Amino acid sequence: MVQSLSHKAASSAPDLAISTTSLTKVYRGRGGEKRALDGVSLSIPRGSFFALLGPNGAGKSTFINILAGLVLKTDGQVKVWDRDIDRDARGVKAAIGVVPQELNLDPFFTPLELLDVQAGMYGVPRSERRAMEILEALGLADKANAYARTLSGGMRRRLLVAKAMVHSPPVLVLDEPTAGVDIELRQQLWAYVRELNERGTTIVLTTHYLEEAEQLCDRIAIINRGSLVACDTTRNLLAGIDSKALVVTIDRDLSDIPAVLAPFSPEIKPERKVVVRYKPSVTPAGRILDAFAAAGLGILDITTEEADLEDIFLQLTSTRPKD
Ligand code: ADP
Ligand code: MG
Repeated sequence: MVQSLSHKAASSAPDLAISTTSLTKVYRGRGGEKRALDGVSLSIPRGSFFALLGPNGAGKSTFINILAGLVLKTDGQVKVWDRDIDRDARGVKAAIGVVPQELNLDPFFTPLELLDVQAGMYGVPRSERRAMEILEALGLADKANAYARTLSGGMRRRLLVAKAMVHSPPVLVLDEPTAGVDIELRQQLWAYVRELNERGTTIVLTTHYLEEAEQLCDRIAIINRGSLVACDTTRNLLAGIDSKALVVTIDRDLSDIPAVLAPFSPEIKPERKVVVRYKPSVTPAGRILDAFAAAGLGILDITTEEADLEDIFLQLTSTRPKD
């Protein structure tokens, strides 16, 4: 049995909800070896709403399944809520609720029964069980006594969220929770998860909907081919993306950068082109063009190049030959 720690959680809350050091997973099978995680060191602060992004096969589910105790790591360290998974696997289980990517549910249990069995497994005292409250929050109250096999995909997904929450874990991890869930239910799911986060639950999710990550999450890590390629606050990542390039073709050759243009750090390119990278949120393009005029340069042509989260994501995860 795994103990619920709802009543203890607040008093001894660590700064980091999850931390991994050089986490490595090599799957070994008849087809040979697959290095699914290659030395991932990641810290997830308590209270964050954290997104783990990456293309298919990047290693996201492997990472999450190791935390969940479903996959054994090959090497490295894992701590959840300050408990080392090698020394205190039960402590880790008590601290985390995991919503798996696959929709596997026993078809002969009703949602209410399922939550009751789960609560029993986690040793939640009867007086502290709140199955109906959880079902209500997830819009499943009217299905409390229906067989799981009669539930739609979206309802099953939400039931898995409910199941992960019965022991009130301080950390909730969701693996592709909105895959195959329609927009309305997706919003209902996020409203619930957001409220949990506001009340202190640390949320970690994987998704390949970049917009979703951008809107919901305060921190984003990007993983590709088993390695971490970016990890920052959403604000910093987006600030990095808040960048455009203005490519200006001028009417003469430039050898030096005129003083009025210098603050924009332009690059002189062949064919009388000058490239200025700028943040549209800070610098209006007109101010840059005014500087060209003030320098006495005639403008023959202008093009702009734009970057967004999608670009950055593709740039960081594009298939490069490994070594
Ligand atoms: P993601 O969730 O980011 O799509 P996964 O963690 O599911 O990625 O998979 C990472 C890599 O490990 C993939 O190449 C996948 O084929 C491989 N993989 C996942 N599970 C197994 C397994 N049980 N046995 C062998 N290889 C696996
Ligand atoms: Mg996956």
